[in-house]
Amino acid sequence: MAGNLYLVATPIGNLEDITLRAINTLKEVDLIAAEDTRHTMKLLNHLKIKKTLISYYKETEKIKSDILIEKIINGKNIALVSDAGTPAISDPGEEIIKKAIENNINIIPIPGACAFVNALICSGFSTKEFIFIGFLSKNAKDKKKKLEELKNENKTLIFYESPHKIKSTLENILEILGNRKIVLARELTKIHEEFIRGRILDILEKEQELRGEFVIIVEGTEKKEEEKEFLNSLTLEEHYKYYLNKNLDKKEIIKKIAKDRNKNKNEIYQYFINK
Ligand code: SAM
Repeated sequence: MAGNLYLVATPIGNLEDITLRAINTLKEVDLIAAEDTRHTMKLLNHLKIKKTLISYYKETEKIKSDILIEKIINGKNIALVSDAGTPAISDPGEEIIKKAIENNINIIPIPGACAFVNALICSGFSTKEFIFIGFLSKNAKDKKKKLEELKNENKTLIFYESPHKIKSTLENILEILGNRKIVLARELTKIHEEFIRGRILDILEKEQELRGEFVIIVEGTEKKEEEKEFLNSLTLEEHYKYYLNKNLDKKEIIKKIAKDRNKNKNEIYQYFINK
């Protein structure tokens, strides 16, 4: 009988952020495929787990995934882990997952830490709709092209970036998306965890050095001027219906109407309860 492929999330800093199920899975599988075996060995030592490791990183994904799939078909249970967080999220994994599906192998997620989810929930920006971009291209032209595509997006935008490129990426975002409100989620779950909030320009001016690991969360763009004009041309009842059709609840609708009309939300609230 074929084995299973377990996708096991590991900590993104604080070693306590690992579930009991993840620990048990790592103990029970036959083999752990790890992005960096030395890095994962540290975690396993901390958890007092002795297990055979095989390296599985981006550059070897194609070949290694074939080898691992073969082993699973022959009955081995394999756990895939990355250096930090959830495998296959801006980390190796896609290749073996596709092949596992092609070969009818059970894929079992073992949930846990993921940097962007934790950055997003602390951002204070809309979590209803968001776009996870991950790493922008290293190629300057492609990077700018992607940012141009996102320019008018009103969903919250989420980027990963490596520590030494954080400043230049913020400058690129500033240049193309404008002086948006952002949150830099720094060193999540670690001793120096910090949320740096503000407009890009202020942060760039204030923060001399941006050290550590960061998730960049960018607030979506404000509504386009034409849309604002249109909404302001409606009666308050029509404006209300407009958002009702978008399945928003009363509280959210009042908040949005107040924002669109630059009014205090209590004023809008009063209008509707007096109706
Ligand atoms: N698979 C991981 C996950 O589930 O979040 C992401 C791995 S990706 C290669 C690494 C990037 O994630 C970093 O460059 C940074 O943008 C972000 N990241 C990872 N750990 C972080 C942390 N503790 N604090 C802030 N950002 C982090």
